[in-house]
Amino acid sequence: MNHAAHDPASLELSPEQMRTMGQTVVERAVAHLAALDRAPSNGDFTDIEALCRALREDAPEDGAPLESLLDPLFEEWIPRSFGTPGPGYFAYIPGGGVYPAALADFIADTANRYTGIWQAAPALVQLEANTLDWLRDWMQFPETARGLYTPGGSMAMFNAIAAAREDRLGHNIRAGTLYVSTQSHHCITKAARLAGVAHDRVRQVAVDGRFRMRVDVLKAAVAEDRAAGLRPFMVFSTAGTTNTGAVDPLEAVADLCAREGLWHHVDGAYGAFFHMVPELRPLLAGLPRADSLTLDPHKGLFMPYGTGALLVRDGEKLRALHSSEAGYLPDNQSEFYDPAQYGPDLSRGFPGLRVWLTLKLFGTARYRAALAEKRALAVWAANEVAKIPGVVMDAAPQLSLFAFHLESPRLDTLEAQNAATRALMARVTARGRVMVTGAQVGERYLGRVCVLSFRSRRAQVEACVEDIAAEAAALLAEAGG
Ligand SMILES: *Cc1c(COP(=O)(O)O)cnc(C)c1O
Repeated sequence: MNHAAHDPASLELSPEQMRTMGQTVVERAVAHLAALDRAPSNGDFTDIEALCRALREDAPEDGAPLESLLDPLFEEWIPRSFGTPGPGYFAYIPGGGVYPAALADFIADTANRYTGIWQAAPALVQLEANTLDWLRDWMQFPETARGLYTPGGSMAMFNAIAAAREDRLGHNIRAGTLYVSTQSHHCITKAARLAGVAHDRVRQVAVDGRFRMRVDVLKAAVAEDRAAGLRPFMVFSTAGTTNTGAVDPLEAVADLCAREGLWHHVDGAYGAFFHMVPELRPLLAGLPRADSLTLDPHKGLFMPYGTGALLVRDGEKLRALHSSEAGYLPDNQSEFYDPAQYGPDLSRGFPGLRVWLTLKLFGTARYRAALAEKRALAVWAANEVAKIPGVVMDAAPQLSLFAFHLESPRLDTLEAQNAATRALMARVTARGRVMVTGAQVGERYLGRVCVLSFRSRRAQVEACVEDIAAEAAALLAEAGG
Protein backbone atom coordinates (compact mmCIF):
# COMPACT_ATOMS: atom_id res chain seq x y z
CA MET A 1 0.00 0.00 0.00
CA ASN A 2 1.41 3.34 -0.99
CA HIS A 3 -0.17 5.82 1.40
CA ALA A 4 0.64 8.78 -0.78
CA ALA A 5 -0.21 7.14 -4.09
CA HIS A 6 -2.39 10.08 -4.96
CA ASP A 7 0.51 12.51 -4.51
CA PRO A 8 3.92 10.98 -5.03
CA ALA A 9 5.75 13.99 -3.57
CA SER A 10 3.93 13.85 -0.23
CA LEU A 11 5.21 11.96 2.81
CA GLU A 12 2.21 12.93 4.88
CA LEU A 13 -0.30 10.38 6.15
CA SER A 14 -3.92 10.97 7.03
CA PRO A 15 -4.90 10.92 10.72
CA GLU A 16 -6.75 7.67 10.08
CA GLN A 17 -3.68 6.06 8.51
CA MET A 18 -1.48 7.21 11.36
CA ARG A 19 -3.90 5.79 13.92
CA THR A 20 -4.11 2.45 12.16
CA MET A 21 -0.37 2.18 11.75
CA GLY A 22 0.21 3.17 15.37
CA GLN A 23 -2.26 0.57 16.63
CA THR A 24 -0.66 -2.08 14.47
CA VAL A 25 2.77 -1.35 15.92
CA VAL A 26 1.53 -1.15 19.51
CA GLU A 27 -0.27 -4.49 19.09
CA ARG A 28 2.90 -6.16 17.85
CA ALA A 29 5.14 -4.61 20.48
CA VAL A 30 2.81 -5.45 23.36
CA ALA A 31 2.29 -9.01 22.12
CA HIS A 32 6.07 -9.36 21.97
CA LEU A 33 6.47 -8.12 25.54
CA ALA A 34 3.64 -10.31 26.80
CA ALA A 35 5.38 -13.40 25.37
CA LEU A 36 8.84 -12.67 26.84
CA ASP A 37 8.13 -14.94 29.78
CA ARG A 38 7.81 -17.91 27.44
CA ALA A 39 10.51 -16.95 24.96
CA PRO A 40 13.94 -18.56 25.27
CA SER A 41 16.37 -16.35 27.12
CA ASN A 42 18.83 -16.38 24.29
CA GLY A 43 18.03 -16.13 20.59
CA ASP A 44 18.59 -18.84 18.02
CA PHE A 45 21.80 -18.01 16.20
CA THR A 46 21.79 -20.99 13.83
CA ASP A 47 23.00 -19.93 10.38
CA ILE A 48 22.95 -16.32 11.44
CA GLU A 49 25.72 -15.33 9.00
CA ALA A 50 23.74 -16.73 6.10
CA LEU A 51 20.69 -14.83 7.29
CA CYS A 52 22.64 -11.57 7.49
CA ARG A 53 24.07 -12.07 4.02
CA ALA A 54 20.61 -12.73 2.68
CA LEU A 55 19.35 -9.55 4.32
CA ARG A 56 21.65 -7.27 2.33
CA GLU A 57 19.48 -5.20 0.04
CA ASP A 58 19.35 -2.11 -2.11
CA ALA A 59 17.24 0.86 -1.11
CA PRO A 60 13.66 0.13 -2.15
CA GLU A 61 12.36 2.19 -5.04
CA ASP A 62 8.75 1.74 -3.99
CA GLY A 63 7.05 1.39 -0.66
CA ALA A 64 5.68 -1.79 0.91
CA PRO A 65 2.79 -2.41 3.33
CA LEU A 66 3.61 -1.99 7.02
CA GLU A 67 2.48 -5.51 7.96
CA SER A 68 4.86 -7.06 5.44
CA LEU A 69 7.73 -5.23 7.15
CA LEU A 70 6.67 -6.03 10.70
CA ASP A 71 6.20 -9.75 10.10
CA PRO A 72 9.85 -10.69 9.61
CA LEU A 73 10.97 -8.09 12.09
CA PHE A 74 9.00 -9.57 14.98
CA GLU A 75 9.01 -13.19 13.84
CA GLU A 76 12.51 -13.69 12.48
CA TRP A 77 14.91 -10.88 13.27
CA ILE A 78 14.08 -9.61 16.74
CA PRO A 79 14.02 -13.13 18.24
CA ARG A 80 17.49 -13.87 16.85
CA SER A 81 19.20 -11.69 19.43
CA PHE A 82 20.39 -11.92 22.99
CA GLY A 83 17.26 -11.99 25.12
CA THR A 84 18.07 -8.63 26.70
CA PRO A 85 14.48 -7.61 27.56
CA GLY A 86 13.56 -10.99 29.03
CA PRO A 87 13.14 -11.73 32.73
CA GLY A 88 15.80 -14.46 32.57
CA TYR A 89 18.56 -12.20 31.33
CA PHE A 90 21.43 -12.28 33.85
CA ALA A 91 24.24 -11.88 31.31
CA TYR A 92 26.71 -8.97 31.05
CA ILE A 93 24.99 -6.00 32.68
CA PRO A 94 21.28 -6.28 31.93
CA GLY A 95 19.48 -3.36 30.36
CA GLY A 96 15.96 -2.08 30.79
CA GLY A 97 13.27 -1.03 28.37
CA VAL A 98 10.37 0.08 30.53
CA TYR A 99 7.28 0.62 28.41
CA PRO A 100 6.50 4.24 29.36
CA ALA A 101 9.90 5.24 28.00
CA ALA A 102 8.91 3.90 24.59
CA LEU A 103 5.75 6.00 24.72
CA ALA A 104 7.86 9.03 25.63
CA ASP A 105 10.05 8.35 22.60
CA PHE A 106 6.96 8.12 20.43
CA ILE A 107 5.83 11.51 21.69
CA ALA A 108 9.31 12.99 21.33
CA ASP A 109 9.63 11.67 17.77
CA THR A 110 6.18 12.69 16.58
CA ALA A 111 6.18 16.12 18.25
CA ASN A 112 9.80 16.39 17.02
CA ARG A 113 10.62 19.58 18.87
CA TYR A 114 14.15 20.90 18.92
CA THR A 115 15.70 20.45 22.36
CA GLY A 116 19.34 21.17 21.48
CA ILE A 117 19.06 24.79 22.55
CA TRP A 118 16.92 26.16 25.35
CA GLN A 119 15.26 28.89 23.26
CA ALA A 120 13.70 26.42 20.85
CA ALA A 121 11.63 24.52 23.43
CA PRO A 122 12.18 26.07 26.87
CA ALA A 123 9.55 24.10 28.78
CA LEU A 124 10.65 20.79 27.28
CA VAL A 125 14.30 21.49 28.01
CA GLN A 126 13.27 22.34 31.57
CA LEU A 127 11.75 18.85 31.94
CA GLU A 128 15.07 17.34 30.91
CA ALA A 129 16.90 19.66 33.31
CA ASN A 130 14.58 18.49 36.09
CA THR A 131 15.51 14.87 35.45
CA LEU A 132 19.21 15.71 35.52
CA ASP A 133 18.62 17.45 38.86
CA TRP A 134 16.92 14.27 40.08
CA LEU A 135 20.03 12.29 39.15
CA ARG A 136 22.11 14.89 40.98
CA ASP A 137 19.97 14.63 44.11
CA TRP A 138 19.90 10.83 44.13
CA MET A 139 23.70 10.84 43.90
CA GLN A 140 23.94 13.55 46.57
CA PHE A 141 25.92 15.83 44.29
CA PRO A 142 25.91 19.56 45.13
CA GLU A 143 23.74 22.25 43.51
CA THR A 144 26.70 23.28 41.37
CA ALA A 145 26.57 19.99 39.50
CA ARG A 146 25.36 19.83 35.91
CA GLY A 147 24.64 16.81 33.81
CA LEU A 148 24.33 15.60 30.29
CA TYR A 149 22.48 12.76 28.61
CA THR A 150 24.67 10.72 26.30
CA PRO A 151 23.98 7.65 24.13
CA GLY A 152 25.60 5.51 26.84
CA GLY A 153 28.29 5.19 29.46
CA SER A 154 31.07 5.22 26.90
CA MET A 155 30.26 8.71 25.69
CA ALA A 156 29.78 9.88 29.26
CA MET A 157 33.39 8.79 29.90
CA PHE A 158 34.51 10.64 26.79
CA ASN A 159 32.90 13.88 27.91
CA ALA A 160 34.28 13.48 31.42
CA ILE A 161 37.83 12.94 30.17
CA ALA A 162 37.57 15.87 27.77
CA ALA A 163 36.31 18.15 30.57
CA ALA A 164 39.01 17.02 33.00
CA ARG A 165 41.72 17.30 30.37
CA GLU A 166 40.65 20.82 29.44
CA ASP A 167 40.46 21.84 33.09
CA ARG A 168 43.66 20.23 34.33
CA LEU A 169 45.97 20.16 31.31
CA GLY A 170 44.89 23.02 29.06
CA HIS A 171 46.78 22.71 25.79
CA ASN A 172 49.61 20.60 27.12
CA ILE A 173 47.80 17.29 26.84
CA ARG A 174 50.60 14.93 25.86
CA ALA A 175 52.10 14.91 29.37
CA GLY A 176 48.81 14.05 31.04
CA THR A 177 48.39 10.60 32.58
CA LEU A 178 45.17 8.89 33.56
CA TYR A 179 44.61 5.97 35.97
CA VAL A 180 42.19 3.07 35.75
CA SER A 181 42.25 -0.31 37.46
CA THR A 182 42.87 -3.60 35.70
CA GLN A 183 39.14 -4.23 36.23
CA SER A 184 37.96 -0.95 34.72
CA HIS A 185 35.68 -1.03 31.70
CA HIS A 186 37.59 -1.00 28.41
CA CYS A 187 35.51 1.90 27.13
CA ILE A 188 37.51 4.27 29.37
CA THR A 189 40.76 3.61 27.54
CA LYS A 190 38.90 3.97 24.28
CA ALA A 191 37.30 7.23 25.41
CA ALA A 192 40.70 8.46 26.56
CA ARG A 193 42.12 8.02 23.09
CA LEU A 194 39.15 9.83 21.57
CA ALA A 195 39.77 12.64 24.04
CA GLY A 196 43.44 12.93 23.09
CA VAL A 197 44.95 10.81 25.86
CA ALA A 198 46.92 8.08 24.10
CA HIS A 199 47.12 4.52 25.37
CA ASP A 200 50.68 5.02 26.60
CA ARG A 201 49.34 7.61 29.04
CA VAL A 202 46.75 5.30 30.62
CA ARG A 203 47.95 3.38 33.70
CA GLN A 204 46.34 0.11 34.79
CA VAL A 205 46.40 -0.10 38.56
CA ALA A 206 46.42 -3.54 40.22
CA VAL A 207 43.47 -4.76 42.31
CA ASP A 208 43.19 -6.54 45.66
CA GLY A 209 41.74 -9.99 46.35
CA ARG A 210 38.23 -8.61 45.96
CA PHE A 211 39.00 -7.02 42.59
CA ARG A 212 39.09 -3.48 44.02
CA MET A 213 41.63 -0.88 42.98
CA ARG A 214 44.69 -0.84 45.26
CA VAL A 215 45.09 2.72 46.43
CA ASP A 216 48.70 2.12 47.51
CA VAL A 217 49.55 1.03 43.97
CA LEU A 218 47.67 4.00 42.57
CA LYS A 219 49.61 6.35 44.81
CA ALA A 220 52.92 4.85 43.75
CA ALA A 221 52.00 5.06 40.06
CA VAL A 222 51.10 8.73 40.40
CA ALA A 223 54.40 9.44 42.18
CA GLU A 224 56.37 7.57 39.55
CA ASP A 225 54.74 9.52 36.73
CA ARG A 226 55.35 12.82 38.47
CA ALA A 227 59.00 11.88 38.98
CA ALA A 228 59.22 11.17 35.26
CA GLY A 229 58.00 14.68 34.48
CA LEU A 230 54.49 13.63 33.46
CA ARG A 231 51.27 15.27 34.67
CA PRO A 232 48.83 12.92 36.41
CA PHE A 233 45.38 14.50 36.06
CA MET A 234 42.57 11.97 36.36
CA VAL A 235 41.64 8.77 38.21
CA PHE A 236 38.78 6.44 37.30
CA SER A 237 37.35 4.31 40.05
CA THR A 238 34.43 1.97 39.46
CA ALA A 239 31.23 1.63 41.47
CA GLY A 240 30.45 -1.90 40.33
CA THR A 241 32.80 -3.45 37.80
CA THR A 242 31.48 -5.38 34.83
CA ASN A 243 33.54 -8.49 35.58
CA THR A 244 32.74 -9.08 39.24
CA GLY A 245 30.65 -6.15 40.49
CA ALA A 246 33.49 -4.83 42.63
CA VAL A 247 33.14 -1.39 44.15
CA ASP A 248 36.50 0.34 44.44
CA PRO A 249 37.39 2.05 47.75
CA LEU A 250 35.77 5.29 46.64
CA GLU A 251 36.51 7.21 49.85
CA ALA A 252 40.18 6.33 49.81
CA VAL A 253 40.50 7.17 46.12
CA ALA A 254 38.68 10.47 46.75
CA ASP A 255 41.11 11.25 49.60
CA LEU A 256 44.12 10.52 47.44
CA CYS A 257 42.73 12.59 44.56
CA ALA A 258 42.04 15.50 46.91
CA ARG A 259 45.61 15.38 48.25
CA GLU A 260 47.15 15.04 44.81
CA GLY A 261 44.91 17.50 42.99
CA LEU A 262 43.55 14.83 40.63
CA TRP A 263 40.11 14.74 39.00
CA HIS A 264 38.26 11.74 40.40
CA HIS A 265 35.73 10.16 38.08
CA VAL A 266 33.51 7.35 39.32
CA ASP A 267 32.25 4.89 36.72
CA GLY A 268 28.81 4.10 38.04
CA ALA A 269 27.45 2.85 34.71
CA TYR A 270 26.37 -0.37 36.36
CA GLY A 271 26.15 0.48 40.04
CA ALA A 272 25.34 4.15 40.59
CA PHE A 273 21.56 3.82 40.70
CA PHE A 274 21.77 1.66 43.81
CA HIS A 275 22.59 4.99 45.46
CA MET A 276 18.90 5.90 45.05
CA VAL A 277 18.16 3.44 47.85
CA PRO A 278 19.15 4.99 51.19
CA GLU A 279 19.79 1.59 52.89
CA LEU A 280 22.24 0.68 50.11
CA ARG A 281 24.21 3.95 50.17
CA PRO A 282 26.87 2.61 52.53
CA LEU A 283 27.85 0.15 49.76
CA LEU A 284 28.80 3.14 47.64
CA ALA A 285 30.29 5.33 50.35
CA GLY A 286 32.34 8.14 48.83
CA LEU A 287 30.45 8.22 45.53
CA PRO A 288 29.01 11.71 46.20
CA ARG A 289 32.56 13.08 46.49
CA ALA A 290 33.41 12.34 42.86
CA ASP A 291 34.34 15.18 40.52
CA SER A 292 32.27 13.45 37.88
CA LEU A 293 30.15 10.34 37.60
CA THR A 294 28.99 8.09 34.77
CA LEU A 295 25.48 6.74 35.16
CA ASP A 296 23.69 4.52 32.69
CA PRO A 297 19.95 5.04 32.95
CA HIS A 298 19.65 2.24 30.36
CA LYS A 299 20.93 -0.10 33.06
CA GLY A 300 19.97 0.86 36.61
CA LEU A 301 17.09 3.15 35.71
CA PHE A 302 15.70 0.48 33.36
CA MET A 303 15.48 2.89 30.42
CA PRO A 304 15.79 1.69 26.81
CA TYR A 305 19.27 1.52 25.28
CA GLY A 306 20.61 4.87 24.23
CA THR A 307 20.26 6.53 27.64
CA GLY A 308 23.58 7.23 29.33
CA ALA A 309 24.35 10.16 31.59
CA LEU A 310 27.20 12.17 33.05
CA LEU A 311 27.22 14.35 36.15
CA VAL A 312 30.00 16.86 36.74
CA ARG A 313 30.35 18.25 40.26
CA ASP A 314 31.40 21.71 39.13
CA GLY A 315 29.03 22.14 36.21
CA GLU A 316 30.97 25.16 34.98
CA LYS A 317 33.78 22.83 33.94
CA LEU A 318 31.46 20.91 31.65
CA ARG A 319 30.16 24.17 30.28
CA ALA A 320 33.67 25.52 29.76
CA LEU A 321 34.36 22.55 27.48
CA HIS A 322 31.22 22.78 25.37
CA SER A 323 29.91 26.32 25.44
CA SER A 324 30.09 28.05 22.08
CA GLU A 325 28.39 30.72 20.01
CA ALA A 326 27.41 31.19 16.40
CA GLY A 327 25.94 34.01 14.38
CA TYR A 328 22.93 31.94 13.37
CA LEU A 329 22.02 30.94 16.96
CA PRO A 330 20.31 32.94 19.70
CA ASP A 331 22.63 34.41 22.34
CA ASN A 332 23.50 32.10 25.22
CA GLN A 333 21.54 32.59 28.39
CA SER A 334 22.72 31.51 31.78
CA GLU A 335 19.64 31.07 33.96
CA PHE A 336 18.37 27.85 32.42
CA TYR A 337 19.98 24.54 31.58
CA ASP A 338 20.86 24.46 27.90
CA PRO A 339 21.89 21.09 26.42
CA ALA A 340 24.19 22.43 23.70
CA GLN A 341 26.12 24.43 26.32
CA TYR A 342 26.92 21.26 28.26
CA GLY A 343 27.39 18.63 25.59
CA PRO A 344 28.83 18.05 22.13
CA ASP A 345 25.52 17.69 20.30
CA LEU A 346 23.44 20.41 18.71
CA SER A 347 20.57 18.65 16.96
CA ARG A 348 19.63 15.69 19.07
CA GLY A 349 16.77 13.52 20.28
CA PHE A 350 14.97 14.25 23.51
CA PRO A 351 16.28 11.68 26.00
CA GLY A 352 15.03 13.62 29.01
CA LEU A 353 11.42 12.88 28.14
CA ARG A 354 11.96 9.13 28.60
CA VAL A 355 13.21 9.65 32.09
CA TRP A 356 10.69 12.35 32.96
CA LEU A 357 7.56 10.53 31.79
CA THR A 358 8.59 7.21 33.33
CA LEU A 359 9.56 8.60 36.72
CA LYS A 360 6.47 10.80 36.90
CA LEU A 361 4.29 7.83 35.98
CA PHE A 362 5.79 5.25 38.34
CA GLY A 363 7.14 7.49 41.08
CA THR A 364 10.59 7.17 42.62
CA ALA A 365 9.43 4.87 45.44
CA ARG A 366 8.77 2.06 42.95
CA TYR A 367 12.24 2.49 41.55
CA ARG A 368 13.81 2.24 44.97
CA ALA A 369 11.77 -0.88 45.66
CA ALA A 370 12.77 -2.47 42.36
CA LEU A 371 16.46 -1.75 42.88
CA ALA A 372 16.40 -3.03 46.45
CA GLU A 373 14.66 -6.17 45.23
CA LYS A 374 17.31 -6.83 42.55
CA ARG A 375 20.05 -6.61 45.14
CA ALA A 376 18.18 -8.86 47.57
CA LEU A 377 17.63 -11.42 44.79
CA ALA A 378 21.33 -11.38 43.90
CA VAL A 379 22.33 -11.85 47.54
CA TRP A 380 19.90 -14.77 47.86
CA ALA A 381 21.09 -16.35 44.60
CA ALA A 382 24.76 -16.00 45.54
CA ASN A 383 24.12 -17.77 48.84
CA GLU A 384 22.41 -20.63 47.02
CA VAL A 385 25.03 -20.87 44.28
CA ALA A 386 27.80 -20.91 46.90
CA LYS A 387 26.25 -24.08 48.34
CA ILE A 388 26.43 -25.96 45.03
CA PRO A 389 29.12 -28.67 45.17
CA GLY A 390 32.15 -27.63 43.16
CA VAL A 391 31.36 -23.92 43.17
CA VAL A 392 33.95 -21.53 44.57
CA MET A 393 32.56 -18.03 45.11
CA ASP A 394 35.20 -15.56 43.92
CA ALA A 395 33.11 -12.42 44.38
CA ALA A 396 30.05 -12.30 46.59
CA PRO A 397 27.62 -9.57 45.55
CA GLN A 398 28.67 -6.10 46.58
CA LEU A 399 25.70 -4.81 44.62
CA SER A 400 23.70 -7.25 42.45
CA LEU A 401 26.42 -9.17 40.60
CA PHE A 402 28.45 -12.16 41.77
CA ALA A 403 31.19 -14.29 40.20
CA PHE A 404 32.40 -17.83 40.83
CA HIS A 405 34.18 -20.77 39.25
CA LEU A 406 34.04 -24.56 39.29
CA GLU A 407 36.60 -26.74 41.00
CA SER A 408 36.82 -30.40 41.94
CA PRO A 409 39.57 -32.94 42.63
CA ARG A 410 39.36 -34.03 38.98
CA LEU A 411 39.35 -30.47 37.70
CA ASP A 412 42.80 -29.98 39.09
CA THR A 413 44.35 -27.58 36.62
CA LEU A 414 43.47 -23.98 36.00
CA GLU A 415 42.76 -24.84 32.35
CA ALA A 416 40.33 -27.60 33.32
CA GLN A 417 38.55 -25.32 35.77
CA ASN A 418 38.34 -22.54 33.23
CA ALA A 419 36.96 -24.90 30.59
CA ALA A 420 34.39 -26.31 33.02
CA THR A 421 33.27 -22.86 34.15
CA ARG A 422 32.97 -21.71 30.56
CA ALA A 423 30.95 -24.82 29.71
CA LEU A 424 28.75 -24.22 32.74
CA MET A 425 27.74 -20.78 31.52
CA ALA A 426 27.05 -22.04 27.99
CA ARG A 427 25.05 -25.04 29.17
CA VAL A 428 22.95 -23.05 31.63
CA THR A 429 22.12 -20.64 28.83
CA ALA A 430 21.37 -23.49 26.41
CA ARG A 431 18.62 -24.71 28.76
CA GLY A 432 16.71 -21.64 27.61
CA ARG A 433 15.30 -20.34 30.88
CA VAL A 434 18.04 -17.86 31.71
CA MET A 435 21.00 -16.32 29.94
CA VAL A 436 24.33 -15.99 31.73
CA THR A 437 27.82 -15.07 30.54
CA GLY A 438 31.25 -15.38 32.11
CA ALA A 439 34.38 -13.27 31.93
CA GLN A 440 38.09 -13.86 31.72
CA VAL A 441 39.51 -12.14 34.81
CA GLY A 442 43.28 -12.40 34.84
CA GLU A 443 44.15 -16.10 34.70
CA ARG A 444 40.68 -17.25 35.60
CA TYR A 445 37.49 -17.63 33.69
CA LEU A 446 34.67 -16.69 36.04
CA GLY A 447 31.01 -17.48 35.80
CA ARG A 448 28.81 -14.56 36.71
CA VAL A 449 25.22 -13.65 37.39
CA CYS A 450 24.02 -10.05 37.28
CA VAL A 451 20.50 -9.31 38.45
CA LEU A 452 19.45 -5.97 37.01
CA SER A 453 16.60 -6.53 34.58
CA PHE A 454 13.45 -4.97 36.03
CA ARG A 455 11.60 -8.06 34.78
CA SER A 456 13.75 -10.50 36.77
CA ARG A 457 11.83 -11.61 39.83
CA ARG A 458 12.18 -14.42 42.33
CA ALA A 459 10.97 -17.12 39.88
CA GLN A 460 13.71 -16.46 37.32
CA VAL A 461 16.40 -16.19 39.95
CA GLU A 462 15.31 -19.57 41.32
CA ALA A 463 15.42 -21.00 37.80
CA CYS A 464 18.93 -19.62 37.42
CA VAL A 465 20.12 -21.26 40.64
CA GLU A 466 18.46 -24.57 39.69
CA ASP A 467 20.02 -24.62 36.23
CA ILE A 468 23.46 -23.75 37.57
CA ALA A 469 23.14 -26.57 40.13
CA ALA A 470 21.99 -29.11 37.54
CA GLU A 471 24.69 -28.28 34.99
CA ALA A 472 27.42 -28.05 37.61
CA ALA A 473 26.50 -31.53 38.82
CA ALA A 474 26.51 -32.85 35.26
CA LEU A 475 29.89 -31.29 34.49
CA LEU A 476 31.47 -32.67 37.65
CA ALA A 477 30.05 -36.13 36.88
CA GLU A 478 31.49 -35.96 33.36
CA ALA A 479 34.84 -34.92 34.81
CA GLY A 480 34.73 -38.09 36.86
CA GLY A 481 33.46 -37.12 40.29
C1 LIG B 1 28.02 -0.78 30.67
C2 LIG B 1 29.22 -0.25 31.32
C3 LIG B 1 30.04 0.69 30.69
C4 LIG B 1 29.82 1.09 29.26
O1 LIG B 1 28.62 1.79 29.11
P1 LIG B 1 27.80 1.75 27.74
O2 LIG B 1 26.49 2.34 28.13
O3 LIG B 1 27.70 0.32 27.31
O4 LIG B 1 28.54 2.59 26.75
C5 LIG B 1 31.09 1.20 31.39
N1 LIG B 1 31.37 0.82 32.64
C6 LIG B 1 30.62 -0.08 33.29
C7 LIG B 1 30.95 -0.47 34.68
C8 LIG B 1 29.51 -0.65 32.64
O5 LIG B 1 28.76 -1.55 33.28
